[in-house]
Amino acid sequence: MGDRQQLIHQVSPLETMVESHINTLIVGGGIVGAGVLRDLSLHGVDCLLVDKKDFSSQTSQSSSKMLHGGIRYLENFDFNLVYEALHEKNLWLKLAPHLVKENRFYLPVFKDSLRPMWMVRVGIFLYDLLSNFQNATRGSATKTETIACIPHIRKENLKGSGIYSDAIVDDGKLTLEVIMDSLENKNAKAISYVSANSIVKSKSGKYTCTLLDELTGIEKVVTCDNLIIATGPFTDQFMKNIPEVKWTDKLLPSKGSHLWIAKADLNLPNPVVLTPKDGRVIFVIPHDDRVLIGTTEEKVEENFFDVTPSKDEIKYLIHNLNEFFPTANIDESKIQSSFAGIRPLVKEDDGANLGKTAREHKVFQPMKGLYVIVGGKLTTFRTMSQEITSLIVRSHNRAYNPDKTKRPLRVRCQYNFFHKPDLSSEIINKIIHRELPRTYDDIRKRRALAQNTDQKIEEYLYKHTI
Ligand SMILES: Cc1cc2nc3c(=O)[nH]c(=O)nc-3n(C[C@H](O)[C@H](O)[C@H](O)COP(=O)(O)OP(=O)(O)OC[C@H]3O[C@@H](n4cnc5c(N)ncnc54)[C@H](O)[C@@H]3O)c2cc1C
Repeated sequence: MGDRQQLIHQVSPLETMVESHINTLIVGGGIVGAGVLRDLSLHGVDCLLVDKKDFSSQTSQSSSKMLHGGIRYLENFDFNLVYEALHEKNLWLKLAPHLVKENRFYLPVFKDSLRPMWMVRVGIFLYDLLSNFQNATRGSATKTETIACIPHIRKENLKGSGIYSDAIVDDGKLTLEVIMDSLENKNAKAISYVSANSIVKSKSGKYTCTLLDELTGIEKVVTCDNLIIATGPFTDQFMKNIPEVKWTDKLLPSKGSHLWIAKADLNLPNPVVLTPKDGRVIFVIPHDDRVLIGTTEEKVEENFFDVTPSKDEIKYLIHNLNEFFPTANIDESKIQSSFAGIRPLVKEDDGANLGKTAREHKVFQPMKGLYVIVGGKLTTFRTMSQEITSLIVRSHNRAYNPDKTKRPLRVRCQYNFFHKPDLSSEIINKIIHRELPRTYDDIRKRRALAQNTDQKIEEYLYKHTI
């Protein structure tokens, strides 16, 4: 088998695509950087986005894969966040219906649940109210109906369930398509596996930055007028690259893990929301022939790239699955694969408590022309970016139109969670030409969505392209 990291093109895009001066440099190709790139390029601003790894290979492909208002944030009275997120969810159902699908979520309630049935009903009503009654479903089910709708659910002490709607999304492909849509505008460029290092501000007010191609070792020094840092959970580490900024840590990073099991092992027709005794929430979400289970909350201090679930997190998820689905007999041998990501949670002022840490985003502007955006959610990436993009567009004496990004995405990926065509050389060629892979591993893992066990794609790539 060939080297998975083998380059598709031998020449570094730093040599062929990048001028020595860029109006706006965006660092970070997760959903937040992608959203900034799209909005700026739709407003005619020249911009380059770089990511140290493949696009959307970190947090933005490791979420619970929901576009949601966050029903549990109602408990913290985060009404603004829930309102905004529900409206964004309903917008993306229209803008990218191939990637975002509305689903009926069941929240089973037991005699000893922390949230009794009346509270669940009130919460679901409020949730629908905050969506301007645009959510597809709202209601409840009796014990008998719940047992009929949720195979293997624990019958003991079961009272019934609340029903509400949220959307499931292919998070990685949404990010990639937002970047691909931006590139339809001539003034946008995006390059993966390029890190931004040693940033200094010159007397003229421009930023000088050394870009390093992590795959070829080629370096290029560029200047830019605006520098946007959208490095998510890596932001505190990244800001140490700019010595002129006396950055104090703003994040309280928290790892969350998920497991995939086969649908044959837990054949749920709809997503189920489990509420364990510790007050946390675990989503069990059927996707095609698999079921996604997560998430956890574990403190992390270093090595944020490519994180994996710990043994304790796996045990926690399996334990709770068995608590709520006692007859399904799920054990660790049923796990097909797993993944983890770091929530870029912004500290509240005292920074002490993970649970109370803000889920809203924050924008910092430590120096003129330098913007740092952290926190927030996948669901609200479009509105998050507007806080920065509106300032930059207006600084070019142009009118800012917040509705420009309310148009459908123009380019589609070949594969997503809901559409998996048979592999062919035509499809691989389209992926190579449109979906910005730089290595064959990018195609295998993130463009063609091969699972660890899927040898077919690897063999195909080896035979046809290497
Ligand atoms: C377990 C979990 C579950 C979640 N579930 C949901 C959910 O269901 N719904 C929802 O709305 N939100 C959810 N979220 C939140 C959401 O996933 C994140 O808020 C969002 O993905 C963060 O995106 P980002 O672009 O800020 O970060 P990232 O996606 O991590 O992007 C940052 C990028 O910066 C790059 N980078 C770092 N350093 C450098 C450098 N020196 N040079 C160049 N590039 C660099 C990284 O490679 C990375 O690609 C969840 C988060 C977690 C962890």
